[in-house]
Amino acid sequence: LVSREHHPARSVVRVGGVPIGPDTLTVIAGPCAVETVEQTLEAAVMARAAGAALLRGGAFKPRTSPYAYQGLGEAGLRILAEVRAETGMPVVTEVIDPASVELVAGYADMLQVGTRNMQNFALLQAVGSAGKPVLLKRGFAATVDEWLMAAEYIAQRGNLDIVLCERGIRTFETATRNTLDISAVPVAQRRSHLPVIVDPSHSGGRRELVIPLARAALAVGADGVMIDVHPAPERALCDGAQALVGEDIREFSIAASILSPVM
Ligand code: PEP
Repeated sequence: LVSREHHPARSVVRVGGVPIGPDTLTVIAGPCAVETVEQTLEAAVMARAAGAALLRGGAFKPRTSPYAYQGLGEAGLRILAEVRAETGMPVVTEVIDPASVELVAGYADMLQVGTRNMQNFALLQAVGSAGKPVLLKRGFAATVDEWLMAAEYIAQRGNLDIVLCERGIRTFETATRNTLDISAVPVAQRRSHLPVIVDPSHSGGRRELVIPLARAALAVGADGVMIDVHPAPERALCDGAQALVGEDIREFSIAASILSPVM
């Protein structure tokens, strides 16, 4: 269902009216995790300045360590809804288990399935039935074929509003958190009609890598990028080291506008 054999033309997925697909360059930005109303609102203002049309932010955080910040849960979803009402930006947020799909879908404009859950088949089927567009991140140890098969589980439930997100894979290299597999973008775009975006924040794991990796993503033809921003990354409860701040935002928006087909 997601292959170009089945559907030769590349698809456009709309999230609260915002298109993601060929001929557009959609920026999704926001904090890694929702912490407070003020932090989320400030991050949304920064996201806007970076050229973002969609706001990201995790209320349910899938952390490697059970002792790390796990997110605010439903209280975080309420904050995202409040910030959407204030800014008009549709919200992309992660859902981490089938039991909370209905709850998250009640607040989100797009449901994110994270790298750790790419092959959680019960979750894929549940988001496929939730009636919302889905952002499917690539598993950090998944091949492109496995990623497309994961998308197939969502599509089988009648939902073809799926956007693929390359976010780095695990390799022998330890200089970056993960290795951004930039070639996966054109490969996935040739095999599948679905839009493909890149997350340079989670792949590099460090602020200074985000803009260069975003440039690479746009140059290779990604349909968008998703980046972390934070008003005070030194106090961030999650992944502050990769969040863009102040001047970075300006540099990012210039880089994006130079490479964008429409901005
Ligand atoms: C995220 O985008 O918040 C996230 C946790 O990303 P990933 O699943 O790619 O690690």
